[in-house]
This record gives sequence, structure tokens and C-alpha cells, in this order.
Amino acid sequence: APTKHPFIADGEATAILPTGGKQKPITVIGTEAIRETFDDFCVQQAINSRLAPGVTDLVLNPDAHCGYGAPVGCVMVSPTHVYPGPVGVDIKCSMSLLQTSLPADAVVDKQTRRALIDAICERTPTGAGRGQRNAAKSRPVDEALGQRVLVEGASKGVCEALGIPPEWATRCEDSAHVGHDDSTAALALRLERLLPHAHRFADKMSQLGSYGGGNHFGECEVVEVGDDPRSQSVAETFGLVDGGVAFLSHCGSRGIGHQLATGQFKALQAKFEQWNIPLPGQDRELVYAPLGTAEADAYLDDMALGANFATVNHLLINALVLEAFQQVIPGATGQLVYFISHNIARKEIVDNRPAWVHRKGATRAYPGGHHALAGTPFAQTGHPILLPGNPQAGSAVMVADPGAVLSRYSVNHGAGRQLGRKAAKRALNQAQVDQSFNEADILSNCRHYPIDEAPAAYKDFDEVLRSVKSAGLASEVARLKARFVIKD
Ligand code: 5GP
Ligand code: MN
Ligand code: MN
Repeated sequence: APTKHPFIADGEATAILPTGGKQKPITVIGTEAIRETFDDFCVQQAINSRLAPGVTDLVLNPDAHCGYGAPVGCVMVSPTHVYPGPVGVDIKCSMSLLQTSLPADAVVDKQTRRALIDAICERTPTGAGRGQRNAAKSRPVDEALGQRVLVEGASKGVCEALGIPPEWATRCEDSAHVGHDDSTAALALRLERLLPHAHRFADKMSQLGSYGGGNHFGECEVVEVGDDPRSQSVAETFGLVDGGVAFLSHCGSRGIGHQLATGQFKALQAKFEQWNIPLPGQDRELVYAPLGTAEADAYLDDMALGANFATVNHLLINALVLEAFQQVIPGATGQLVYFISHNIARKEIVDNRPAWVHRKGATRAYPGGHHALAGTPFAQTGHPILLPGNPQAGSAVMVADPGAVLSRYSVNHGAGRQLGRKAAKRALNQAQVDQSFNEADILSNCRHYPIDEAPAAYKDFDEVLRSVKSAGLASEVARLKARFVIKD
């Protein structure tokens, strides 16, 4: 069947989308079935983003759907400009995976799983606006420690103060972010300027160690490593245990990241109006700042502050989740597999020159031997890629292949939405959704599973993964099968 958009397929799961700009094509990853999930608005956002000033590359991933400024599920590269919209409101929204020492048998019993859900919720609250106040056994974070978190990220001192195993910092895509001039001092200075105007700063600091609302979640998994020799050996390097219990977390920088991001959008939008600068595709969400300007410096600093919060937030959640497991099942131990973002701009080398790679709902995918992995535990294999799908189809751990150069060393960040929240509420039936979870024996902290988060609201995860594999970007190492989900 002819597709709505003029994709020029050049493989089973790769295509080019011309934009009208001279030699400014979009690289599209996705089988034909996946390409049909891209609606007009999403494609228009991709075109606007590709034609925006200073943008040299745009990759549309199989999970793409419309987002703020650029589609969720895209990679935007610029050597000269930084784009706050495509990083988004949830700066450094990320995934992390904790491998426990427990066998799958340990989470068969429903009462044990209920006790685990309770023990986790006592430590890490879910829900918009929720923080330590809402969790009896959280770790209190005062303003002074909060400020250190923002400036230092997962430094040794911050990890020690919060009871986070310091070696977990070696299992992060980035354990600490620095300011626009590559210094920590720039962040301290920026924070000092922001503090007098920060709204309810203490409340936001007390959200450290919490999931927040929406589709953020914690999920108990059973790991199923692939049978092939490569999966087995890579899983060993990753620290994945076949048939073992693991815990997958999805969250970002909470209220503080939101405040920093929206502050930047507003400030830049006001300047574009004042200076009467045309916006890419007339989209106010695509405001930008040329590198080297005061505006770019301020954005990069704010992004780093938010990213540091998100990093420590995830590590603390993992420490608290491990503590909850130990309360319910004494003797359990755990090791962080990896922590990796899908909403961040990173300075990387692209085509032999430095560029800001904006991953908006996209995950970095460096294969073994990539120069940036030298000295990490994953130098030989490539780092773990953590991909949530949905609780019923499962989630995946992948590892990049050399073909990932095509997508600027990136893959998708999940299945991606196929129904908006309102559409999902209209189309799906609460009783049926709840029943499907019962039948799959997946427990949840929610009395009724949020209907706009139901698996059917997301794209076919297997087709998404097939696209990634067939395009030669990455290979599957393990599947994660949900045993219980903690959501808002
Ligand atoms: P986003 O970062 O765009 O908010 O969502 C990331 C991805 O998480 C979604 O595309 C979806 O595939 C996945 N996801 C959302 N909710 C759940 C959940 O409860 N469990 C799992 N395993 N994946 C989920
Ligand atoms: Mn998020
Ligand atoms: Mn996210």
C-alpha cells in the first residue's frame, strides 16, 4: 500500500524522507508498517526540525510520535546550535536497570509481590508533585544537599551522603554533567543566580528519590537472556542473570527539571519575539540558541543542573528499591546494570567534528570499540541499551551494532505512543485492561490500571524491535518480563 508520506525505502527498515530542503533528507528507521504509524503532525515536526538553523542531521526512530517542538523518538544533530524544545520538559528522562541476586521463583508468590510493592512505595512515591513527604522511609534531602546534587551529580560525596553505592557511578551513561565551559564552577554560579527566583525550591529538592506521574514507572522483571552465544557473553558483561529478578525504572528530573526547561523556553521565546526572528516552521517550540551566546550558555547550564538531579534521582531510587527488596527478602543483593537517558543533548563527535546530539525520546547506542567507551566496563561489548516496551509485551536490553552509525549512534527509547491519552480513554475499556493484567499475572500498585497507559496505547513493540534489528542498529540481548508495575 502506498504510504501517506513520500518515504523512499532503501532497505526493509530504513528509508529517506525528502524535506524540500536542498540535500537535507531525514533518515527514517522503521519497517513499512511502522512508517504508517507516523501521522502528518509528527512528520511535519520532523521536517521543521530538519530544516531548522544549524541542524545537520535528523533521524526519525520507529517509536516516533508528535512531541514538543520535535517528535518524541528523534535524533537532531547540530554542530552550531542548541535546541531546548527537543530536549524537552523532562530533562534527562531516563531508564535504569537493577539486577538482583534473586531467582524468578522469589517473585511467584502474590503476597510477596504485594509486600514488595508496599515496601517500594514506602520509599519511592509516585504521582505528580509527590516527594519525600509522601514516603515514610525515603531519605531526607535538605536544601544544602539538594544544591550539591544539582552541581555535582553523582559525585562520590553525594553518593556517600545518600547511601548510594559509589561504584554505581561507573554504570551511568553520564554520572555528572558540567557547565557550558566544561566546569562545575559554572553550575554553582548559575545556581546561585537562579536560587532567589526559584519557586518552592525546597519542595523540588525533596522530590529526590521519586518517580513522578505520567508514564514514569518502576517494574519488577524476570530476565530472559537470548540463547545465542553473543547474547550470553554480552549479558555476562552487563551483569544480567538469566532467570533472575531485575527492576526497571523510568523517570527524569521531576519538578526541578520542568522548572528549568520551561524557564528556558519562556526566556528564549520572549527574545525571539523581541528580536522578531523567524522560527523554524513558525513553531515557537523550536526556539534555539547559537553556541557561544549567553543564551546558549544559560541553557546548557540549566540542562546540566536538571540532568544532575535526574541522575542522582535514578541512583537513589535504585538504592531504595534494593533496600525494599532486602526488607521483604533478607539477604537479597543488587547491582546496577546501567542508567541511560532518552531526553538529553550531548556533545559528541559526529563526522569527525564536535556536535550537540539532541536525543528526544531516543537512546544513545555506542557499539563495542567506540572511542567514547574506552575505560568503561563496556568498551569491548558496547553499553547496555534499556528499552521499555509495555508490561505485557515486555521490555528489552539491547546492544549496539556498527550499523548504528546510520542513526548517529542512537536507537528508539521504547514502543512509542500510538494513541494519545484522550484517544486511549475513549477507545479502551477499563475492565478489559484490568482483566488483561490479571490474566498475565502482573500486579500493580494501582487499583485500576491507568487506561491511558494501557499496553494498547503503545505501538507494537515487536515490530519496533524488528525495525531496529533489521536496520542493523542493535541486537537483542535479553527480554524483561514484568511481574509487577508501580505507576501513578
Ligand atoms: P516516554 O519516555 O516517551 O514517556 O516513554 C517511554 C516508553 O516507555 C514508551 O514508549 C513505552 O514503550 C514505555 N512504557 C510506558 N509505560 C510502561 C510500563 O508501564 N512498562 C514498560 N515496560 N514500559 C512502559
Ligand atoms: Mn519523563
Ligand atoms: Mn521518558
